[in-house]
Amino acid sequence: MSRLQDKIAIITGGARGIGKATAEVFTREGATVIIWDMLDAGEATARELREQGHQAEFRKVSVTDAPALEAAAREVVERYGRIDILINNAGITRDRSLLKMSQAEWEQVIDVNLNGVFYCTKAVVPYMVEKQYGRIICTSSVVGITGNFGQTNYSATKAAMIGMVKTWARELGKYNITANAVAPGFILTDMTDQIPEEVRNQTVAGIPVKRMGVPEDIAYAYLFLASEEASYVNGHTLSVNGGVA
Ligand code: NAD
Repeated sequence: MSRLQDKIAIITGGARGIGKATAEVFTREGATVIIWDMLDAGEATARELREQGHQAEFRKVSVTDAPALEAAAREVVERYGRIDILINNAGITRDRSLLKMSQAEWEQVIDVNLNGVFYCTKAVVPYMVEKQYGRIICTSSVVGITGNFGQTNYSATKAAMIGMVKTWARELGKYNITANAVAPGFILTDMTDQIPEEVRNQTVAGIPVKRMGVPEDIAYAYLFLASEEASYVNGHTLSVNGGVA
């Protein structure tokens, strides 16, 4: 089955974790994937996919660098003629309780997780409007819905995704562009690898399906929202968290 046949998809943070799994799923479904990431590992991810006969490339760029993103979006359009899908997946954490959180920790997370989504979407949307087609998908989080100890900065950015996609649904729907979010729960990646085992076990005990998610659980949610089957889903945030909230 090729649900994204001939689609051109940009995946931010596609070098590893959820973004990498998404690049694998999307290319298997026929998309050409362009990974935007700061990590050189993005090159190896794209190469692996090409070696499997898929269409993938890597562009080293930070989602915090608006002019570089504009240039990167222009390059994609010069090469492929359009951009169909944008997955705003790049994200970081700098966890600390409010009393201890520094302004720098606040600003770093706001810059990548919130400003980065604004910059990437601003760089890409004019090309979607031109073609009267687009799928924008932003990565929220369960903690954007519930809050979480030590995550003032992170949960603020993830709650912001929910408001942004609702707004873009209203603004961009008339151009045949949909905007949705996915709110992952506790997913096994480098991001959650840093969590002490004891805390991790406690968290898993509170998840109704009694396991952490895997990156593919999120990649398939992105796939649904990027597919034709989801063309009437707009402004929605899809929770993928094993039933935790
Ligand atoms: P990860 O740390 O494995 O991957 C994040 C990717 O984003 C990395 O490749 C990293 O290099 C890239 N990135 C970071 N800063 C960047 C920047 N400035 N410019 C470009 N790329 C940058 O994390 P993950 O778990 O795969 O997370 C992916 C998304 O899912 C994030 O938005 C994260 O907040 C969200 N999320 C993850 C979980 C989880 O449990 N893992 C839960 C909820 C939400």
